[in-house]
Amino acid sequence: MTTWVPGAAGSAYDVDNLPYGVFVGTGEEPRIGARIGDHVLDLAPVAAAGLLEVAHVFRHQALNPLMALGRAHNDAIRRWIVALLTEETGRADVEPHLIPLADVEMRMPIEVGDYVDFYASEHHASNVGTIFRPEQAPLLPNWKHLPVGYHGRSGTVVPSGTEIIRPMGQRKTPSDDEPVFGPSARLDIEAELGFVVGIGTELGERVTTGGFADHTFGVMGLNDWSARDIQAWEYVPLGPFLGKSFATSISTWVTPLAALDAAWVELPGQDPEPLPYLQVEGRAGLDIAIEVAVNGHVVSRPPYRSMYWSPAQMLAHLTVNGASVRTGDLWASGTVSGPVAEQRGSFLELSWGWREPFAVGDQERLALEDGDEVVLRYTAPGTLGGRIALGEVTGRIAPARP
Ligand code: MN
Repeated sequence: MTTWVPGAAGSAYDVDNLPYGVFVGTGEEPRIGARIGDHVLDLAPVAAAGLLEVAHVFRHQALNPLMALGRAHNDAIRRWIVALLTEETGRADVEPHLIPLADVEMRMPIEVGDYVDFYASEHHASNVGTIFRPEQAPLLPNWKHLPVGYHGRSGTVVPSGTEIIRPMGQRKTPSDDEPVFGPSARLDIEAELGFVVGIGTELGERVTTGGFADHTFGVMGLNDWSARDIQAWEYVPLGPFLGKSFATSISTWVTPLAALDAAWVELPGQDPEPLPYLQVEGRAGLDIAIEVAVNGHVVSRPPYRSMYWSPAQMLAHLTVNGASVRTGDLWASGTVSGPVAEQRGSFLELSWGWREPFAVGDQERLALEDGDEVVLRYTAPGTLGGRIALGEVTGRIAPARP
């Protein structure tokens, strides 16, 4: 199974990857393509020419209709794309519909329904607990019994490349007598993984941990930008609000679950054993390596396989009360941090509570400065023996608008 697409075989975007995205070429309507090597395959005309029954789903400006087809249809579509890109017989018909990535602009890939953000890394939660509550146990009593989460703001989920305007807001540090208003002085990142719902549920229905693959379409990189000073003052007692809602960036490529078949690993271990509705069997974790680069310098390498709670447990938990999910609903893992300092997924942890500046090339940082550019990169084992890449997530900080 070797692709004929020039430069694609053996690359991070070989036929074992094939993420989907929404692209637009000059003077054309945005539509759906699959990435192969450094090209995007324009699926709509190829599907129409091949009389594919579901050809219409590729003429949309979001992946939602494709995602709503469900797992069986999506597996069939994937097999069809692999055949197109590997069999020499149809090459002459397919090749004209391969467009160099340099000639297209990528758009927001999905219409996001509801958005939930979890807090599933034990190392991240322990670091944050130790920084903010040094005299107490690092984890709060509920943490190992349920995947803690909150509802975020879906309307401000933006595609990779979108400029991030430094938020204004209210904050009060211990040295301030009264709250003050101004640009956030503690702007931060959270390196996370996002999961998108393909097939929804009815109100009252629950998704079991075993139902994860039937209801989840795919995975994407996600940066949960966070204004820590705004967050620290506002979050009591109801949780994150304006310190998070100004922007969440996602990759423009969505990796279908099937591309991660070789990436499943055992969870690090759960003690105490979770309640029955949260129990998982077999390999429920994902071996996805993350790299955080600031202004071109790698500052951290968070390992997703170190996450305590699995994505299947997150989906089971967020529907266990009967709350329904819809195609396009998005949930994120929470900051991914590994056990050692070089694996921390936020500036809050890298600077250990703004106390220890860390190196960014020949500069130092506590928090993000105007003009800083953050790039999150993700790779995973592919089914062809190499590594596949998830779409990267980039964002540059623009000055606050006073
Ligand atoms: Mn987060």
